Amino acid sequence: MSLAGKTALVTGGTSGIGLAIARALAAEGANVVLNGLGDPEANAQTADDIAQKRKVKAYTSPADMTDPDAIVAMMQEAKEKLGTIDILVNNAGVQYVSAVEEFPIEKWNQIIAINLSSAFHTIRLAVPGMKEKGWGRIINTASAHSLVASPYKAAYVAAKHGLAGLTKTVALETAQQGITVNCISPGYVWTPLVENQIPATMQARGMTKEQVIDEVMLKAQPTKQFVTVDQIGAMAVFLCSDAASQITGANLSVDGGWTAQ
Ligand code: NAD
Repeated sequence: MSLAGKTALVTGGTSGIGLAIARALAAEGANVVLNGLGDPEANAQTADDIAQKRKVKAYTSPADMTDPDAIVAMMQEAKEKLGTIDILVNNAGVQYVSAVEEFPIEKWNQIIAINLSSAFHTIRLAVPGMKEKGWGRIINTASAHSLVASPYKAAYVAAKHGLAGLTKTVALETAQQGITVNCISPGYVWTPLVENQIPATMQARGMTKEQVIDEVMLKAQPTKQFVTVDQIGAMAVFLCSDAASQITGANLSVDGGWTAQ
């Protein structure tokens, strides 16, 4: 399969899962916009490395996904630089853990904005171009938490369930226009974010690294293995293929059996 000549925009594409998806799409020839926060110089270097290695166009956008105006500007810039967005990956996401009665209002608003509302904005802006072309792929990084809940994650679970609902609705609205809209729902994925939590948890709970991984992190994941970012990237590439043209409105679990329980 080749995605040569297609343009992909990945929100939260500067780290972890989003970066792996961007890399996987670029490996198939897609030009990529990597949206995300973090060190602008390091991000620009990452984009340059992808561009050189894969002989595609790649650049970064620091647009803040809590800001609808910044999203409008990001989408406009992408169209001007790389043409119509063919593949939209809504992946930016943050987490906050607290009992619901103590959940800070600003954290609730931030998580709903980044993990859910930003996808509404990018989708509403990308769909017209996809309809014009008669081809498009919208891939939303949801989570096992779009299907089941865990305590103390009210905003995250609500946002991810909302993202699954948005996915289904837009899939129905675009079903006859060559556009597919799907969620990929990972379980625990081995990202720097996860790795960096291990030392603190070892100390807080007096556990070994293995105990933290098995008894805390992978408690809900029957395979007792992390999902890898490359496995999510490969799923995104598959969803862009002709073989996946009849998969739309789906919520595809890549979670080591978590949601089978
Ligand atoms: P990560 O922290 O490595 O990446 C998050 C990305 O989002 C980064 O690029 C960051 O810059 C970007 N981001 C955060 N706030 C932003 C903002 N306001 N504006 C623009 N960009 C912003 O995390 P990850 O583990 O790669 O997570 C990516 C997605 O996968 C998230 O939606 C997350 O909920 C989901 N997910 C992760 C796991 C996991 O175990 N890691 C499991 C299921 C779902």
